[in-house]
Amino acid sequence: MSYKNFTLDIDTDGLALVTWDMPDKSMNVIDLSVMDELEAIVEKVAGDEAIKGAVVTSGKDAFSGGADLKMLEGLLGQFEAEKRELGHEEAARHLFEGSRRLTLIFRKLETSKKPWVAALNGTAMGGAFELALACHARIAADKSSTKVGLPEIKVGLFPGAGGTTRILRMMDTQNGMQMLLQGKTLDLKKAKGFKLVDVVVPADDLIGEAKALLKAGVDPVKPWDKKGYRLPSGRVYSPAGFQLWPAAGAIYRRETHDNYPAARALLRAAYEGLLLEMDDALKVESRYFAHVLQTKEAASMIRSLFVSMQDLNKLARRPKDVAKTALTKVGVLGAGFMGAGVAYVSARAGLEVVLIDREQEAADKGKAYADEVMSKYIARGRGSEEEKQVVLGRITATTDYQALEGCDLVIEAVFEDRDVKAGVTKEAEAVLGENAVFASNTSTLPITSLAQNSVRPERFIGIHFFSPVDKMMLVEVIMGKETGDEALATALDYCRIIKKTPIVVNDSRGFYVNRPVTAYVREAHLMLMEGVPAPMIDNLARQAGMPVGPLALNDEVALDLARKILQATKKDLGEAAVDPRQEKLLEEMVVRQERLGRKNSKGFYDYQGKNKRLWPGLADLQETRLDADSIDHDEIKDRFLVMMALEAARCFEEGVLTDIREADVGSILGFGFAPYSGGTLSYIDNMGLAEFVARAEELAERYGDRFTPPALVKEMAANGETFYGRFSPDESAEAA
Ligand code: NAD
Repeated sequence: MSYKNFTLDIDTDGLALVTWDMPDKSMNVIDLSVMDELEAIVEKVAGDEAIKGAVVTSGKDAFSGGADLKMLEGLLGQFEAEKRELGHEEAARHLFEGSRRLTLIFRKLETSKKPWVAALNGTAMGGAFELALACHARIAADKSSTKVGLPEIKVGLFPGAGGTTRILRMMDTQNGMQMLLQGKTLDLKKAKGFKLVDVVVPADDLIGEAKALLKAGVDPVKPWDKKGYRLPSGRVYSPAGFQLWPAAGAIYRRETHDNYPAARALLRAAYEGLLLEMDDALKVESRYFAHVLQTKEAASMIRSLFVSMQDLNKLARRPKDVAKTALTKVGVLGAGFMGAGVAYVSARAGLEVVLIDREQEAADKGKAYADEVMSKYIARGRGSEEEKQVVLGRITATTDYQALEGCDLVIEAVFEDRDVKAGVTKEAEAVLGENAVFASNTSTLPITSLAQNSVRPERFIGIHFFSPVDKMMLVEVIMGKETGDEALATALDYCRIIKKTPIVVNDSRGFYVNRPVTAYVREAHLMLMEGVPAPMIDNLARQAGMPVGPLALNDEVALDLARKILQATKKDLGEAAVDPRQEKLLEEMVVRQERLGRKNSKGFYDYQGKNKRLWPGLADLQETRLDADSIDHDEIKDRFLVMMALEAARCFEEGVLTDIREADVGSILGFGFAPYSGGTLSYIDNMGLAEFVARAEELAERYGDRFTPPALVKEMAANGETFYGRFSPDESAEAA
């Protein structure tokens, strides 16, 4: 039999080499055809007396990225259709059988009585690493780029092809649960430390060494399939188990606030599985997996955090007819907080960087930031001194604008001041070639107005980074009225080089990301003035799924900046645009109390080193104080999430956002909007438009017009539509 995705070579010693190499794909993924062929190969190896053992490896750079999540989406589509045709029970049975197929193939391999060695020639993630775990030994090529891991939890799933069950039989429960719940990827050193990889060998010898291992003898029976097997952490019902499991439940609550069905299912599958024999444990794992697959959270997270994010990373919004830009040299103007970060990520990605500031000392300080970040990595065992020197060698810190000659792209990150920005634009453009693109990192000034300082407004664009630049994965690319396709293509090509996820938004006050964030913080300020106890505000926001409470977030950004933005809003849009209660609070905090936030160690919190606690004086600022017991927790949580979702919907209605994928992905990567929801617009869809409108109107009646839903959302509710039903990405791309 010949295979499409694999080759099978049997050598004279009777050792089979199974090479996974899918045609027309740069990365191997597990899809239906891979499952069919793998099953046939497992059966052949098991049934053919001449075959003594097998090595499974890949013909690509990496071993495999894991299961094709689009296949899971397909399974769910079939489930929905069958539910209508055959009823829920029958449809659920098919879904269970379909989603556990990989589990059964891997178990067949594991119990085939022939030894299998996984030869990991590169990264193995998710379902592919579960395949490796099912093998009887794992050998890996010594490449620093090789990672292994089970990241399913990050897209609302958990390892459901035996990974959960096997990890907890191979590792101690505490480390195993941590690995599974965090979905962390491990480098080879860590993987070997946990005994998830047995041997690391030079890449050239991988297959030879894998076969040598087989010849030396690999036990084809796993420890858990033998009598007398003992779990790494002992039995669940034991003194050690009694210490561990109650704490695991508490940690789960603290970390997830019970918002993630996959994490809950993982914990249950782990606990129950450890009480059972292998085959029953696998069945329990499969049942929970099929259950999780049906949740809105899994569907939304797969869609936003995998499918849409991948689309955006592949530059779905890039104008198709502009040739790829050959970016090699970029300029960064302003070596302050942001400029230093931009210079570092650019140099790290291999670009030559000219970093300019007014004084040489300031430029050098900006470059020193790259040194600092990389030194920290090296201290943690990641990267080397030589790599650092190469990166630093790419950054020229100077005051001389002539050095910008030959730059394909210049990013300006000088003070947030129109005149200063106008000055640097002129100075840079005097040196730049005709095709160079000029980008501003402004957070508040409209790109269209800044483009007036440029002699080539069609090559002027916004590239809005978030801080800290090296950690935040999102970049907002902002189109001014005159920005042309070539500038957009260059900005997106640059994002791809520095491995950030770009969203393309049209010019508006605050662009996209900062609008819901500002509304989130405003809601907290208003709650405080209404008399809601401060600890409830941040705690309930986190329970709603936000990574940082709004008061803590405001402290990080700085209270004086919040006040400055409020004043600017009032100046530009009039008195009615700001709430006097919010103004009063910020006035009191900033002017009278001189509490500016983290930067002067006092804001809504008092800071002492790494510790912080809410400032007790906050209670004195509240004219009324509500009794904590009288407060409806769900209403507080809804006020945060509904408010942010409304602001995203307004951005979409106004045409600031033109692609629903960008609204969702941008909200999770940009401000951590409750990831389990799939993002701001998915949150509305999942609640149902009619219910969302009813909830928003209820809140508007109680708390004010800021909750009034936009006309588009009302219209969609009336028509029974959803964002994903009406604005499917293809249509919205066309609209853009
Ligand atoms: P910063 O004050 O830390 O840095 C500004 C730098 O620009 C300083 O080093 C200053 O010396 C330099 N500079 C001023 N005039 C100059 C000139 N004529 N030529 C060369 N250099 C000059 O400010 P920042 O926080 O890095 O912000 C920079 C820009 O990025 C602003 O437009 C800001 O709105 C935007 N931004 C900031 C953040 C943030 O979180 N701080 C986030 C996104 C965007």
